[in-house]
Amino acid sequence: MDKKEAIREIEELREKINYHNHRYYVLAQPVISDAEYDALMRRLIELEEQFPDLITPDSPTQRVGGALLKGFVQVRHEERMMSLDNTYSEDDLREFDRRVRQAVGDQAYVVQQKIDGVAVSLRYEDGIFTRGATRGDGQTGDDITANLRTVKSIPLRLFEGPLSKGVLIVRGEVYMPKEEFARINNEREEEELEVFANPRNATAGSLKLLDSREVAKRKLAFMAHSPLRPEGWQSDSLYDLLEALKQAGIPIIPNMRRCDDLRKVLEYIHDWENERFGAPYAVDGVVIKVDSLPAQAELGHTAKSPRWSVAYKYQPEQATTRLLDIQLSVSRTGSVNPVAILDPVFISGTTVSRAGLFNESEIRRRNLRIGDWVLVEKGGEIIPQVIKSIPERRDGSEREFHMPTHCPVCGSKLVKYPRDVAYRCINADCPAILKSSLSHYASRGAADIDGMGEKLIIQLVDEGLVKSIADIYDLTREELIALERMGAKSTDYLLKGIEGSKHRPFERILFGLGIRFVGATGARALVSRFKDIDELMDADLDELSEIEGIGPVTAQSIRDFFDNPRNLELIERLHKAGVNFSTEKIDEINQTLSGLSFVFTGGLEKMSREKAGQEVLKRGGKVSSSVSKKTDYVVAGADPGSKFEKASTLGVKIISEQEFLRLLEGK
Ligand SMILES: [Zn+2]
Repeated sequence: MDKKEAIREIEELREKINYHNHRYYVLAQPVISDAEYDALMRRLIELEEQFPDLITPDSPTQRVGGALLKGFVQVRHEERMMSLDNTYSEDDLREFDRRVRQAVGDQAYVVQQKIDGVAVSLRYEDGIFTRGATRGDGQTGDDITANLRTVKSIPLRLFEGPLSKGVLIVRGEVYMPKEEFARINNEREEEELEVFANPRNATAGSLKLLDSREVAKRKLAFMAHSPLRPEGWQSDSLYDLLEALKQAGIPIIPNMRRCDDLRKVLEYIHDWENERFGAPYAVDGVVIKVDSLPAQAELGHTAKSPRWSVAYKYQPEQATTRLLDIQLSVSRTGSVNPVAILDPVFISGTTVSRAGLFNESEIRRRNLRIGDWVLVEKGGEIIPQVIKSIPERRDGSEREFHMPTHCPVCGSKLVKYPRDVAYRCINADCPAILKSSLSHYASRGAADIDGMGEKLIIQLVDEGLVKSIADIYDLTREELIALERMGAKSTDYLLKGIEGSKHRPFERILFGLGIRFVGATGARALVSRFKDIDELMDADLDELSEIEGIGPVTAQSIRDFFDNPRNLELIERLHKAGVNFSTEKIDEINQTLSGLSFVFTGGLEKMSREKAGQEVLKRGGKVSSSVSKKTDYVVAGADPGSKFEKASTLGVKIISEQEFLRLLEGK
């Protein structure tokens, strides 16, 4: 391909990708599949690799990358970036409207939802995104261009039109969708990082990262609300200008309305009061602006905010309830965390009965005593938080809370490492830690053991039947059925669930082991590099750190895990039990032994009995340790024992090792 052809195709690809990007990230109406989109992208990357001098900063391939920053450069805003006056009262809005009309006569207003995000200013030159900055002190902010380039709803190049010439300055909010917020907090909990209190904090924290590749992993989004009037722009209406942004491909806050008077504005506010909880992003109010650009100019601004705009904020939904107790939960990594047990109360759409309290100093700061009446609120409309106590309502029966010095479950002394906020139980045999590890291992994203719920796990540990994850695989029918509340049916269901858990994909078993800092994503990254547990266990620190998504801390943690003899013993036992520790696709092997049950007796020549058992399981068969009428085959090796005799009496079919091998081959 010559360069001329390449230029043409690259242009075409970029235009297509920009179009589909806009359909997907701005309009949420994709018209092609992800695979088709990826194919366009791959072709563009291929061409740009062939002709690197054709790469331009607005190419869709250039969203992520660039060097790690040492810090942010300060930039001066073209025009001051003001903050809005906030109010919680409708009377204040009437007063605002009165002042506006007194100065410039009757005015129409543009109203939009107020998104709980972080304000940024974007600069486009001839339609190309050239710079993005935080508000800072209003005069100067941080240049966060590299981080904003990773936000897929910010177009790197505008569609052709009246706004794609000259300089365009657009202000708006970068925010984190609720779903992404929940995902990141889950992941952070998994990796033992402090969770974000609300989506706004999460967004601000992300934009401050110096590595844009890390920012790209948080799926931030952007919506515009305040363009500066571009030079030569004809219409006097802000509403029209916002509509023009939309045409240029810039997302604006949806549900915008032009209201002829204040009465209509108040209607809008009431309409959204409860509706806002259904939005995929956190909405904390409504922003009101004078529509006429000349009237805005005439009204001007005070020392800190414009006179033509005001933000009405909804009261955060709060409730008072009783703090019934402060309990301690011991996580699978041993951290001991206080949890508020509340008299159930309904807030922002759900019933709240528990709330995390982080640590002892937070409990002091909020002045909480057990038995107190407390004020509860949902941070960012999502996470329940105990804000403070109401000491006026105390009757003297309230009790102060003291963080214990010893593990509430096993009684060993808690330790606190430097720079760690949590107290930890470091007793490897602590039943609390074992229970959490078991429920993590049995959970849906891990080994997914049907029938093994929280209650049963507590029973198994308390009865002493399970002292390690591997003990699950030694549980017998007799042991289980003897447990309280376990019938024959639930026992069989559980045994089937335990059997099934051996065949989960390697990455899920790895995740289930609960290696510190290795979440589901980390486990996937490891599995894409190492085909089985032996390869992974042999990897040194350098090899581990090289893997995308595995940092030095995680690499060290993985190494530490495999250097601990207790963990090696665990893996060996799981391996022997037939748990899958490799990426070899189980599906690829035909289920030729499906439904057949095998018992082995005597020594085999060609493979160990464990291995033989695994081969049966891979083909959908079952392996049992004792012969019964339900046994289909007894495989008799050298010096078979009593099982051989039992099989003969019961009339069960007995086969030799050679016959067994032929069965495996499907003959
Ligand atoms: Zn303990």
